[in-house]
Amino acid sequence: MTRLLYQGVPGVADSSASILFTSRVGPGAPGLDFETGDRTDPKLHEECGVVAIHNHAHAAHQAYLGLYALQHRGQESAGIATADGHHLANIKGMGLVSEIFTDDVLQKLPGHMAIGHTRYSTTGDSALLNAQPIRVDSTKGLIAIAHNGNLVNLGNLRERLERDGAYFQTTSDSEIIVQLIAHSAADTLVDAIADSLSQVEGAFSIVMMTRDRIFAARDPRGFRPLSMGRMKNPDGHETIVFASESCAFDLLRAEFIRDVLPGELVMVSQDGVTSRQFASGVPQSSCVFEHVYFARPDSRIFGRWVQESRDQMGRQLARESGVSADVVVPVPDSGVTAALGYAEQAHIPFRLGLIRNHYVGRTFIEPEQRVRDFGVRLKLNPVHNLLAGKRVILIDDSIIRGTTSRKIVRMVRGAGATEVHLRISCPPTISPCFYGVDTPSKRDLIAANQSVDEIRRYIEADSLAYLSLDGLLSCVQDDKKPGYCTACYTGNYPTQWVDVEDILPATVSS
Ligand code: SF4
Repeated sequence: MTRLLYQGVPGVADSSASILFTSRVGPGAPGLDFETGDRTDPKLHEECGVVAIHNHAHAAHQAYLGLYALQHRGQESAGIATADGHHLANIKGMGLVSEIFTDDVLQKLPGHMAIGHTRYSTTGDSALLNAQPIRVDSTKGLIAIAHNGNLVNLGNLRERLERDGAYFQTTSDSEIIVQLIAHSAADTLVDAIADSLSQVEGAFSIVMMTRDRIFAARDPRGFRPLSMGRMKNPDGHETIVFASESCAFDLLRAEFIRDVLPGELVMVSQDGVTSRQFASGVPQSSCVFEHVYFARPDSRIFGRWVQESRDQMGRQLARESGVSADVVVPVPDSGVTAALGYAEQAHIPFRLGLIRNHYVGRTFIEPEQRVRDFGVRLKLNPVHNLLAGKRVILIDDSIIRGTTSRKIVRMVRGAGATEVHLRISCPPTISPCFYGVDTPSKRDLIAANQSVDEIRRYIEADSLAYLSLDGLLSCVQDDKKPGYCTACYTGNYPTQWVDVEDILPATVSS
């Protein structure tokens, strides 16, 4: 049974009081529903997806559908807040969107406006308390906020706000923004929001809601995607929607309008849509890994279709590091589009030689390595008759620690492949991310510690090649726009504030 947290829900006792006065949460905190994420999970994780709905008779249900489409951006907790012009209700829980928001629960969320959030979080920080949206009764009125990304000047801001008398109820970045809004000297709410956003540094795509307005904003560098769309309703009125990825619009039958611009604050009210820049003149640095792995291929982000970018990555990889082989096999699901591009470019047959079981639960949270090994076999299974006696090119989107890649190479060879050549559709990951992606620190990134040939030997492949940085950028840019963050491949961070401990040169392991 999923435990839910209710705030301001008509006819339901507020469950926030006993929890919101807990200053900090973590493993073992009494009365809290949490799960422990495992940092040895082989894939990198996005932390969040957000959605907002303005002016729809069933706003909560629309937010649910939007979150359902964004489930790949976070599977640990989800929440929806709604407003009807007078009240602002919020329900959130641990688990998948469909587990939390049954019809019964959705019916408790009245109103024509909604914001929603789905979250992946890291060890010790995954409590229900930090699930979003966060609903705060501030000096500027009731505000609900949902945030995708990661602020990098948190410590300084928090200290300053605490000196000014702020009392923090969560460890979430989002609350920093709400506290800045509450402490802003600006007269109007929209000025206070713009003022607070101009003080935070890092990655944020945010949706906010008051009793009668929706706000959406992106950080000045545009790290994370956020798109705006519209729905025409049968009675002629228009619904404005925002979502982390445009794939959410398809499920909502909404039309894509445009991306929220870096440094832009959009406000939607009964009077229509208005917009202002709260920051400008900062070079754009959108996360290139969104195109490589995070975003769904049926989404359009940063002005490009993800499917097109991944197809190009596969083609470029074939041009840069072709090898004679019989079949091209993707590591599903994320390697599929790049593998199709590679196969077409190289004129080598594409085969689904590895099958993914989509119904495996979160095996990665098991603490024992033995169980994790089993987890890879639970998730992937080789198709023996496609692989036996074949020279195989395997296409994947990243190698983080190398342990999973080695298991997959062994799996393919164990199915009878005579050669296994691994091709990666991005450059080696050598540095951690501070902008909302859960990466291991440098010492745990295999490419930060070993040469490509050492990695090849470790994973037991016949050959290994990565896409070059220039090759990657050529697949995601039109006329060199937009600018991309490539810090996890280069160590060059677009912001000043990073955790120096985490980016110190890695110790070369033996
Ligand atoms: S460091 Fe890597 S994952 Fe993080 S924002 Fe930059 S490109 Fe994306």
